[in-house]
Amino acid sequence: MDDPQIRMVDLYGQYLNIKNEVDVAMAEVLTSTAFINGPQVERFATQLASYLDVPHVIPCANGTDALQIAFMALGLKPGDEVIVPAFTYIAPAEAAALLGLVPVVVDVDPHNFNMTFHALEQAWSPKTKAIVPVHLFGQCAPMEPIMEWAKAKGLFVVEDTAQALGAKYLTGQYKNRRAGTIGHIGCTSFFPSKNLGCFGDGGAMMTKDAHLAAQMRMITRHGQRMKYIHEVLGCNSRLDTLQAAILEVKLKYLDQYEAARYRAAQEYTQALRDIDGLACPLEESYSTHVYHQYTLRVLNGWRDELVRHLTSFKIPSAIYYPVSVQKQEAFTSIIRKSGTLFNSEQLCSEVLSLPMHTELTVEIQDRVITQIRNFFNNI
Ligand SMILES: *Cc1c(COP(=O)(O)O)cnc(C)c1O
Repeated sequence: MDDPQIRMVDLYGQYLNIKNEVDVAMAEVLTSTAFINGPQVERFATQLASYLDVPHVIPCANGTDALQIAFMALGLKPGDEVIVPAFTYIAPAEAAALLGLVPVVVDVDPHNFNMTFHALEQAWSPKTKAIVPVHLFGQCAPMEPIMEWAKAKGLFVVEDTAQALGAKYLTGQYKNRRAGTIGHIGCTSFFPSKNLGCFGDGGAMMTKDAHLAAQMRMITRHGQRMKYIHEVLGCNSRLDTLQAAILEVKLKYLDQYEAARYRAAQEYTQALRDIDGLACPLEESYSTHVYHQYTLRVLNGWRDELVRHLTSFKIPSAIYYPVSVQKQEAFTSIIRKSGTLFNSEQLCSEVLSLPMHTELTVEIQDRVITQIRNFFNNI
C-alpha cells in the first residue's frame, strides 16, 4: 500500500476528530436560521475573552479587516505613519495603505523573525503614530522593549496575533499575558489553517480599553450603535454565526492543539538541529511558541534545491514569505523603507516551512526528516 499523503495542514483529519460536536453545533445554526448575529457570535466572543483574559473581544469578518478596523478606531489619519515588519504577511501594510496611512517598513531579527526594538528607533519620524508587531509563526515579538518605547513616544501598538493566538509572554511585567492583549489592540484571524481556524473567513479584535472596544464594535456595524443612526464612518465586517458555532467547539481544543504542535516541533528540532546547513526555529525565553509554522532557515543557497528534492518524494513544504513587503509592486510607491532591510531580504531566500498541524504523527514526520537528512548527506 502507498504511504498516506503528507499535507502541510490536515484540516479534514482535525475535523474528523471533533465531527460529532461540530456537526451538532452547525445543525443548530441551520435550524435556527440565525445566520447573522446569532447568539453563538457573542457567546464565542465571551469565551475567547475569558481564554485570553482580556475584557473585550470584538468579532469581525477576517484578520485583515481586524487590522483596518483597529487603525480606524485609533483615529489614524491619512499621512500618519504605521511601522510594520518587512518580513510578514502583507495584511498590516495593506490595511494601513487602504486608509491612506504610510506603512514604514522595518527589518526583523533573523533568529526569531520578529520586529526588533532597535529597528523601531531608527524608523521613527514625527509622523509616526502606531506600531504593528506581528507575532510571526507563533512566537511573540519582544513586547517589553516595544511597549516601553511606544509609551515614551506616545504611539499606539496594534498586535497582529493572527499566527500566535494563545502564545504567552513569559517574563517581566507582561508575564502570563497572552499575545494580542499587551498592546492597545490585538488583531487575529480564524482563517481555516490558523491555530484556531473556522471553516471559512473570520477574525477578531481584542482590547482592555472599553472606549476602543465600543468604537470597534460600532465600526464593524457601519458606524452605528443604534440601527440606522451612523455616528462614525464604518464598514460591514461580521463573523458568521456558523463560523462562531464552529469556533466555540474548537476553542475548547486550542490548548490540546497547541500541545500537539509543540510536540511535533520538538520532534523536528531534535532530528534536524545537528545539520550544519539548517537553522531550526529558536525559542525565545520571553515567550511560548505556538508553532503556527515550523520554519527553518536553509543556509548557503540550498533552499530551492531542497524544495525540489522534497517535492520529488511527495513531501510538501512552503515558503512564507518569498517576497518582502518592500519588494511588492503594489507597495513600492506607498511605503517608506527604514534602513537596509538586509535580514528580511535574506530570510525571503532562506526560509522553508515544513508540514505542521495538529494531526501530525511521528511516522509522517520521520518521512519528512529522512528526506531532509538524505538531501544534506548527499550535497
Ligand atoms: C492570516 C494573517 C492575516 C490576515 O488574516 P485574514 O483572516 O486572512 O484576513 C494577517 N496577518 C497575519 C500575520 C496573518 O498570518
